[in-house]
Amino acid sequence: MSDSIPKGTRVVVAVDGPAGAGKGAVCRAAAVRFGLAYLETGALYRAVGLIAARAGQEDPESLARAAATMPFAYRALGEGRYGAFLGEEEVTLALRAEAVGQMASRVAALPEVRAALLGFQRRYGHGQNLILDGRDVGSVVWPDADLKIFLTASLEERARRRAWELQARGEAVNLTELISRMAERDARDAGRAHAPMEAAPGALVVDTTELTLEASCQAVIDRIAPLLGRS
Ligand code: C5P
Repeated sequence: MSDSIPKGTRVVVAVDGPAGAGKGAVCRAAAVRFGLAYLETGALYRAVGLIAARAGQEDPESLARAAATMPFAYRALGEGRYGAFLGEEEVTLALRAEAVGQMASRVAALPEVRAALLGFQRRYGHGQNLILDGRDVGSVVWPDADLKIFLTASLEERARRRAWELQARGEAVNLTELISRMAERDARDAGRAHAPMEAAPGALVVDTTELTLEASCQAVIDRIAPLLGRS
C-alpha cells in the first residue's frame, strides 16, 4: 500500500458497518472515554460527494484530483463534538444531508477516489491511539487494527434512527422512501468491486437492533478497555 505507515505501538480500533448502525455515536463515546483520536472516514467521502454535487459533475479523474487536494480537516471541538471543514468553511451539517450521503456512496465506488483518500486516513492522529469508523477501515485502511468491530442493525431500525436524526434537524422525512434509499446505498456499498463494506476477517459483529445507544456504546467500550489496560 503506497500510503502505508507503520502502526507502531499505538492502539487502533476499526469500526465498520452500514449507515445508521450507530458507529458515530459509539466511536465518539469511546474517544471521549479513553482520549482517543477519532476520524469519521465517511466525512471524507461525503466531502467529495459535496464537491461533486456543487460542481454538478461526476468525472472520476477530476473527483480523484479534488479528493487528493481538497483542504479537508476533521477536528475535535470538545465535549464529544467533531467538525468537518473544507478550508475555512465548516461543512459538518452540509455533509449530513441525505442527498450528500447518496452522492458520497456513488463517488466512493470510484477506485481513483478511494486511493486518493487512503493517505489521509492512514496519517490521521499523528501516532495517538485512534478509533475510526467507515466501511473498509478493518479490511483496507487499518488491516492490522488491534480491534475490529462490525456494527450493524436491521434496515428498518437504522432507517428509523436516521429519520429521527433528520427530523431533529428540521428535514422532512418519508420513512418508506428512507428505507428504500438506505437499502440502495447498502447494496451499492456492499456490492462494489473496490473495498466493499464487509466485516473484516476477525471482526467482532455487534448487532445493535435491540440495544439502546448506551448499551451499544458500552459493548464497544468494554472491548477497548483491556487494550489500553483500563477497566
Ligand atoms: O458513514 P457514512 O454514512 O457517512 O458514509 C457515507 C458514504 O461514504 C457511505 O455510504 C459509503 O459509500 C462511503 N464510505 C466508504 N468507505 C468508508 C466510509 C464511507 O465507502 N470507509
